[in-house]
Amino acid sequence: MKNDCEILVIGTGMTGLTAATELAARGCGVVVVDKGRGVGGRLATRRIGEATFDHGAQFVTARTPRFAGSVEECCKAAAAREWCRGFGGANDGHLRWRGQPGMTGIAKHLAADLDVRMGQTVLALRRAVTGWQVETKEGEAFQARAVVLTAPVPQSLAMLDAGGMVIGTEIRGRLEKITYERCLVVMAVLEQPSCVPAPGGLQLTEGPIAWLGDNQQKGISTQPAVTIHASPAFSSTRWDDDRDETARELLAAAAPWLGSGVREFQVHGWRYSRPLEVDACGCMTVSANPPLIMAGDAFAAPRVEGAALSGWAAAAELGRLGFLAAQ
Ligand SMILES: Cc1cc2nc3c(=O)[nH]c(=O)nc-3n(C[C@H](O)[C@H](O)[C@H](O)COP(=O)(O)OP(=O)(O)OC[C@H]3O[C@@H](n4cnc5c(N)ncnc54)[C@H](O)[C@@H]3O)c2cc1C
Repeated sequence: MKNDCEILVIGTGMTGLTAATELAARGCGVVVVDKGRGVGGRLATRRIGEATFDHGAQFVTARTPRFAGSVEECCKAAAAREWCRGFGGANDGHLRWRGQPGMTGIAKHLAADLDVRMGQTVLALRRAVTGWQVETKEGEAFQARAVVLTAPVPQSLAMLDAGGMVIGTEIRGRLEKITYERCLVVMAVLEQPSCVPAPGGLQLTEGPIAWLGDNQQKGISTQPAVTIHASPAFSSTRWDDDRDETARELLAAAAPWLGSGVREFQVHGWRYSRPLEVDACGCMTVSANPPLIMAGDAFAAPRVEGAALSGWAAAAELGRLGFLAAQ
């Protein structure tokens, strides 16, 4: 496999996959790298035995026609389907879609025709004679004429700093302002179906829990399987505490909605869950020549749709810089 490419996209979340799909459709040679084992980033689905959990984004909404078109395309490809129009008995009219079979189904569908290299943790990005050199922890080196960097902003900044990249004061100041909420997640396999009300989701505004998702009612798990998202305040206060103890506390708080015993559980921590501040520029051009574009939900809106919009913005920015015409 060649590690030289026209455009290297770092990250297989919604932003990276959207940018890569758009650039590949315009005839560019694109390679996508990610440190994870499976594509999707915060579009994440996990199995515990026979139970299946969405433990990152729970659903997708569409506020723009372009993203609504993408969701429709995913539905046609059986990578997504309609879930509901609200939770806890409230029908707010806004459709929510879920991934098929889980949220990673959307990412897998987008990645299907792309050159994706998983298990590549980018350590540093350096300027090379005709573009960029990217080093990974696993010992690979990638050369690209342009880079689209879609990791959460603090992680992207660390890659740039490690490569000695000089970032202008104004841009660095804007990037450093972007911070993220944390989210502790408990995935619990239950003895019996849960008491989470139909259609299998509950958003809470008080207490340690922000979200309860019943993956069985949602239609992605054959076994009773509940995802619990702790609130941002609880997650950051308890971030460094013993995870199993914290999980037991969350399970106790969730007991009225679990309704039966917990067979087993796992915990996951999202250090970069959702951006608290969004710099709504679409994407950030850190270098125009050679092109280096930063993109992600932090540059559009703190949700899956925002990530897609930023991915499209990054592809459009490469066009605006005249990079695509030169292909
Ligand atoms: C708990 C939770 C619940 C959410 N709920 C919803 C919801 O219901 N609806 C909604 O619309 N949105 C929701 N969101 C937000 C949504 O998931 C994100 O806005 C969106 O998925 C972000 O996509 P992204 O591509 O910008 O980032 P990510 O998905 O984070 O992708 C970035 C990728 O970069 C990779 N990466 C990072 N560092 C490196 C490195 N050094 N080398 C290589 N690769 C690297 C990561 O592995 C990752 O795959 C939720 C998020 C969380 C965490």
